[in-house]
Amino acid sequence: MNYKQILTNIHREVSALKNTGEVASYIPELAKVDKDHFGIYLNNIHGDNFEAGDADVTFSIQSISKVFSLAMAFANQGNKLWERVDVEPSGNPFNYLSLLEREKGIPRNPLINSGAIVVADCLVSTLKNPKEDFLQFVRDLANDQSINFDKNVVASEKKTGFRNYAIANLLKSFDNLHNSVEDVLDFYFHQCAIAMNCKQLSNAFFAFANRGKCMQNNTPIKPNQAKRINAIMLTCGFYDEAGEFAFEVGLPGKSGVGGGIVALLPNEYVITTWSPALNEKGNSYYGMQALERFTTETNSSIF
Ligand code: GLU
Repeated sequence: MNYKQILTNIHREVSALKNTGEVASYIPELAKVDKDHFGIYLNNIHGDNFEAGDADVTFSIQSISKVFSLAMAFANQGNKLWERVDVEPSGNPFNYLSLLEREKGIPRNPLINSGAIVVADCLVSTLKNPKEDFLQFVRDLANDQSINFDKNVVASEKKTGFRNYAIANLLKSFDNLHNSVEDVLDFYFHQCAIAMNCKQLSNAFFAFANRGKCMQNNTPIKPNQAKRINAIMLTCGFYDEAGEFAFEVGLPGKSGVGGGIVALLPNEYVITTWSPALNEKGNSYYGMQALERFTTETNSSIF
């Protein structure tokens, strides 16, 4: 398969489309990003890699970080995690509140904000230096020690994260938040504010495509946990557009409001796209277009 040619063609074709998406503005710092960025990076489990466009420009990974926190908490706690968060798609926006009230403080899944805040609470309880240890986990997964938090994004989220404060308080009222709202959200805002590029994200997700074994050849995630995390990505990774993503692209993956999307074909490859303008469901408009073309042209999907 001539991945280089395929990525170059897709990058050119998609760049020619009118970009109807909008950059997220509810976190003011994200609104500053230039809408015209567009990068694609693919690495396969044989160690080859290919790229097109802005694959080495860093951006805010936002909700993509929820996969890393889930992986770390699942590795630490095993199935006990599922006593506090479910694994069902929500069919609702990422910051939706009323479902949480109806379902008595048990979030639908770990990839919506309420679920990720519960996962963050687990990590704050179990890690010695929660933010530093989590950042190190991500650096090790990506095999790149230069990855860091973007402090401006953290500050911006803290100032405007009213719905996340509401979610955390609601969780607390149902006794599903064991640490203080401040401590848990400080951790959560930091995890979302990690800055990475397409290449670093693809490298970090290698373990999920490779049965839990990362690029350095150790296994931070058990094979059966990688399987379960991939299943959650497929059913819950794209806000209330998870069905559409499975239908159009056919891969497990996760998007973030910074405009990144990581998707993978187990035992084959990881592909990451970044284009900051989002469609009305909060997923990158160019990213969705590119990934649909990619799996169609390469005739590769989990189906
Ligand atoms: N930090 C963002 C928030 O909590 C994450 C949203 C996202 O990427 O889905 O609102």
